[in-house]
Amino acid sequence: MKRISLVFPVYNEEQVLPALFERVESLSRLLAGYELEIIFVNDGSHDGSLQLMQHFQARYPHCTILDFSRNFGHQVAITAGMDFATGDAIMLLDADLQDPPEILPQFLAKWEEGYQVVYAIRKTRQEHLFKRMAYRAFYRILHKISDIPIPLDSGDFCLMDRRVIEVIKSMHERNRFVRGLRSWAGFKQIGLEYDRDKRHSGEAKYTFPKLMKLALNGIFSFSYFPLQIAGYTGFFVSIISFLGILVYLYKKLVIGGEPQGFPTLVILVLFLGGIQLISLGVIGEYIGRIYDEVKRRPTYIIRKIYESDSSRS
Ligand code: UDP
Ligand code: MG
Repeated sequence: MKRISLVFPVYNEEQVLPALFERVESLSRLLAGYELEIIFVNDGSHDGSLQLMQHFQARYPHCTILDFSRNFGHQVAITAGMDFATGDAIMLLDADLQDPPEILPQFLAKWEEGYQVVYAIRKTRQEHLFKRMAYRAFYRILHKISDIPIPLDSGDFCLMDRRVIEVIKSMHERNRFVRGLRSWAGFKQIGLEYDRDKRHSGEAKYTFPKLMKLALNGIFSFSYFPLQIAGYTGFFVSIISFLGILVYLYKKLVIGGEPQGFPTLVILVLFLGGIQLISLGVIGEYIGRIYDEVKRRPTYIIRKIYESDSSRS
């Protein structure tokens, strides 16, 4: 029997988990011919999430809980889940039921057809207008500037073949943007549209700084464009200033008189200073990422692994 692993990152989701368990259990009853393995990654929750998952584990035969030593973030949590999943295919999905687990049979159908990656495309979203616009803009900018095509409006919700998982496992970068790594891996990929549900209950755990970090990882890990902009801007400013020199020379030599323009000087100094600082910031983003790699710290620390008795059989 083929084994399918479902990987759930969990950060303070005690309000959602009971509903999630119910839906996962009915899904596993429905799926004939496949064995569902459940991997929960407890990303430093400080509510009752871990206890709830342990209760589920007591009654579900194939369930592993990875308990992180602290909050490492969603991308790291799904990375750990992929490291420990034993399935022939692995599905990544949010624990807040925004990604309906019931889509699995459709994913499996495509996988059985020979696609190694089946990713979900968000046809509609339920978030408020500002967030929707920000997501839309981000995916389009990333698509334009990234070195490999990263599909529009698709998050980490997907099913991947074991071979793709092994490729992603071999990528050890610390600042992870898993949907980008998935595109980078290649293989035969296909997108399926779905309507993204509302979060079942509780607050969004992706705070604004976490979302910003994710977006920056997407851009800086998959594009040199920000560095190139610094170069282009420098080139552009040089041309303008060269023209400026010609104008001043003309004034001095042909029209005569002393050059004036204290405000011009102030504006120029501030303008160039600003551009230089922005460029330094851009370089800093890359250097920070290089520094993270050089430190070679582990990507995550697991406090304890809980396994159901038969989960490794
Ligand atoms: N999550 C996590 N660690 C974090 C933040 C989020 O494991 O630091 C999990 C969270 O429990 C959920 C998933 O990642 O299962 C997606 O988070 P959320 O629903 O807050 O993100 P959004 O849907 O708002 O993008
Ligand atoms: Mg969510």
